[in-house]
Amino acid sequence: MTTTRFAPSPTGYIHVGNLRTALFNHLIARKSGGTFILRIDDTDPERSKEEYVDAIKQDLEWLGLTWDRVERQSERLDRYAEAADKLRGMGRFYEAFETPVELDLKRKKQLNMGKPPVYDRAALALSEADKDALRAERGDGVWRFKLNQERIEWNDGILGDISIDAASVSDPVLIRADGQVLYTLASVVDDTDMGVTHVVRGSDHVTNTATQIQMIRALGGTVPAFAHHSLLTGPQGESLSKRLGTLALRDLREQGVEPEALLSLMARLGSSQPVELRASLDEIAEGFDLDQFGSAPTKFDVQDLFPLTARKLHGLDYAVMKDELAALGVPDDIAEAFWGVARANITTRKDIAQWWTLVSQGAEPMVADEDKDFVAEAMALLPEGPLPADAWSTWTAAVKSATGRKGKGLFMPLRKAITGQERGPEMADLLPLMQSIPARKLAKS
Ligand code: GLU
Repeated sequence: MTTTRFAPSPTGYIHVGNLRTALFNHLIARKSGGTFILRIDDTDPERSKEEYVDAIKQDLEWLGLTWDRVERQSERLDRYAEAADKLRGMGRFYEAFETPVELDLKRKKQLNMGKPPVYDRAALALSEADKDALRAERGDGVWRFKLNQERIEWNDGILGDISIDAASVSDPVLIRADGQVLYTLASVVDDTDMGVTHVVRGSDHVTNTATQIQMIRALGGTVPAFAHHSLLTGPQGESLSKRLGTLALRDLREQGVEPEALLSLMARLGSSQPVELRASLDEIAEGFDLDQFGSAPTKFDVQDLFPLTARKLHGLDYAVMKDELAALGVPDDIAEAFWGVARANITTRKDIAQWWTLVSQGAEPMVADEDKDFVAEAMALLPEGPLPADAWSTWTAAVKSATGRKGKGLFMPLRKAITGQERGPEMADLLPLMQSIPARKLAKS
């Protein structure tokens, strides 16, 4: 039975980078009929905020990435304390007292000597009396996990065979001096207790994984299958880490990005499969295959979301849009025809309102100096009152014979006069719907 989890820290809004992790784990569980856990990594009481927990849930729900259950690390502190005791009992956990400044100095010295900046384990040499003295002087120390200095190997679902020499990694701090349990330990205990079988996360976690594999083994758990996806970069390959704050899912939603557009892109970006708009998560899950993803950084351009969003909207039937159009104030009797006119001319849902304003109120005419007389003559030929379905062809035929103009020289000035812009829906479809045409006042009397 497959069990996966998405484990955000509620210290901010989730962004496109987090979404990849959430989506991959969700799809793996969904494809195999397994369990997908939303795990809130909230062991940091200062930075974790309830509003972010709510926001994370809203964002995932918006995308349809629903979870089978929620777990919270803050409710599992007893389990972490038990695991810490177990590691202590096995001699795999030790207290260290170096200050951050001292550690920094050690690192600099090592780097100067061309050595990797790995913690030197000086604390292992402390006697009980030394520790008592240090504790009296500096307060409690941090607790480090004692790595077995051997190679740690796993077959990564994306990166392939990985082998990391534990001697090149510092013994990880699992409990801070103030007693706060850190994610590295909490995550291992949770993954084991919750029977997590597959962990997909960003490649910034590769070293964590190495140390966590040793911790899982020490605690007697089963090592899950690990896969590390590449990190996203900007379109030019630039780091996104600073900009991710502006790529929060809620900002994209605010900009009108459709969930299917975002999911379709994210499920394929960085893989050898083409990006195609899919109508549902089931369809996305069907073609999803972790093996198709590569290790190279993945370029992400927010602009790619808009053509996909437009494609989704262009495909929506009137029945789906009915309530939304009614809410905009579009009367029932013309709503279907209006949607037919508007849908091919929108990028996001926000654009619908702009076409409704045009249809209901008309636009400030756009008339070039050289077209003034022509437009005046044409407007005089436009029939009064509500216009019939074939109004555009009859009117333009009449204007053509009266003025001798044809082609673009005939149609474009009329479009600009009526819609106030150069581009937009088919005039033949639009004109009969227009409830008000301010350009009429330009008519030559
Ligand atoms: N809370 C961790 C993070 O957001 C989870 C990493 C993991 O998936 O294990 O980076």
